[in-house]
Amino acid sequence: LVPRLRPFAATIFAEMTALAQRVGAVNLGQGFPDTDGPAAMLAAARQAIADGVNQYPPGPGNPDLRQAIAEHRARYGTHYDPDTEVLVTAGATEAIAATLLGLVEAGEDVVLIEPYYDSYAAAVAMTGARRRVVSLVEDPETGRFGLDVAALRAAIGPNTRAVLLNSPHNPTGTVFTRAELAAVAELCVAHDLIAITDEVYEHLTFDGAEHVPLATLPGMAERTVTISGAGKTFNCTGWKIGWACGTAELVAAARAAKQFLTFVNGAPFQPAVATALRHELGWVEQLRGELARKRDRLSAGLAEAGFAVRPCAGTYFVCADTRPLGFADGAELCWQLPERIGVAAVPVQVFTDHPERWRHLIRFAFCKRDDVLDEAIQRLHKLA
Ligand code: GLN
Repeated sequence: LVPRLRPFAATIFAEMTALAQRVGAVNLGQGFPDTDGPAAMLAAARQAIADGVNQYPPGPGNPDLRQAIAEHRARYGTHYDPDTEVLVTAGATEAIAATLLGLVEAGEDVVLIEPYYDSYAAAVAMTGARRRVVSLVEDPETGRFGLDVAALRAAIGPNTRAVLLNSPHNPTGTVFTRAELAAVAELCVAHDLIAITDEVYEHLTFDGAEHVPLATLPGMAERTVTISGAGKTFNCTGWKIGWACGTAELVAAARAAKQFLTFVNGAPFQPAVATALRHELGWVEQLRGELARKRDRLSAGLAEAGFAVRPCAGTYFVCADTRPLGFADGAELCWQLPERIGVAAVPVQVFTDHPERWRHLIRFAFCKRDDVLDEAIQRLHKLA
C-alpha cells in the first residue's frame, strides 16, 4: 500500500462489524438500518430488473432520476439543470471522492471539520492534497458540538481550495444553524473557495431542526457541489445511489473523475430511487418520527446505563461520554464492548486528527428495531 493511503488500510466500520459478528454482539457501530425502505421503491427496482433495465445507464445517470433529483433540490429553492448540473454516483462516498479528484490539485489544502466521516480524509489523500482539520467545539451548557468560526478562519490560507461540510453531522448529530452556515459561506466567498457538502442525512432532522443546504446562501450556488443520496433517506444503504449537484463546470469535473472510477452504477436502482424521491417523502416523514423516538429510547437507555449522552438534532447517531463509567478512553472501551457485554459502538477519536480531544466519546447508531435497541441497552447496564 502506498504511504499516503497507509492510514486508511481498514475502516473502523469493517473492523467493528467483523468483531461484532464474530462474537454475536448487537451492532450499534456501523450505521445502517435493519428494516427496508418504502415497498413501492423496492417493487420499482424488481420491476426494473424484470423490464431489462440491466445494462449501463447513461454516464451522468438515468435521465428520469436526474430529473427527480433536480425536482427534489427545488424544495430548497435551488435549481439544477438535470442534463448538465446533476450527476448520479455510487453513493455519496463516490460523489465526494470524484468531486475532490476532479477539482483539487495535489499539494492544495482541503479543510475538513472534525470529527469527520472517515472517507473524507482518505479521498483527500487520494488526490494528493493536504487536509486542514478544524475541531467542532462543545457548548459546555448544552453539550452540542458547534462550529468554531475563528478556527475555521485560521485554517484557511492561500493554498486552500475547498471546504468539505457535512450537515446533519455524522457522528455528533449536530445540524448546523443558518448562522454557522453563513460564517462558512462568508469565508468561502472571501477566499474564493469551493464548498463540498455532504447532506446525506438531510431528511433525518428532529425537534424542528431545519436542514439548510449551504448552496442556498448568498454567493454559494456558483461554488458549491451539493452531495446527497438515497441510502439514508430511503433505508437502502446497499444500493449505493448518490448524487452531486452544482454548476455545469463543477459537475463536469466530478463526472470526469467518476467515469474512470466506476463509469456508471446501479441501473435498476436508479428508476426506483426516482420513484421514491417523487412519491415516498411521506414515508420518509414517518421514518423521521420513528428515528426521533428511537433516539430518545437509546439516549435514555444510555443515560440509565451511566453514560453522559450528548444531544442529537439529526442523523441516526448519538454520542456518549464514557468517563462517568470510569473509562477515560472510548476506543479502549469500544474494542472491549463486543466481547465483554455483546454490544458494538465506534470510538469518535478515529474520525479526528486530535484523538486526545475526542477520547472520551463513542458513537451509537439508533437506526435499529426497538427490540434490538432494548437488547443493547439491557446489555449496556452490565457495565456499571
Ligand atoms: N455511514 C455509515 C456510518 O457512519 C456506514 C459507514 C460504513 O460502513 N462505511 O456508520
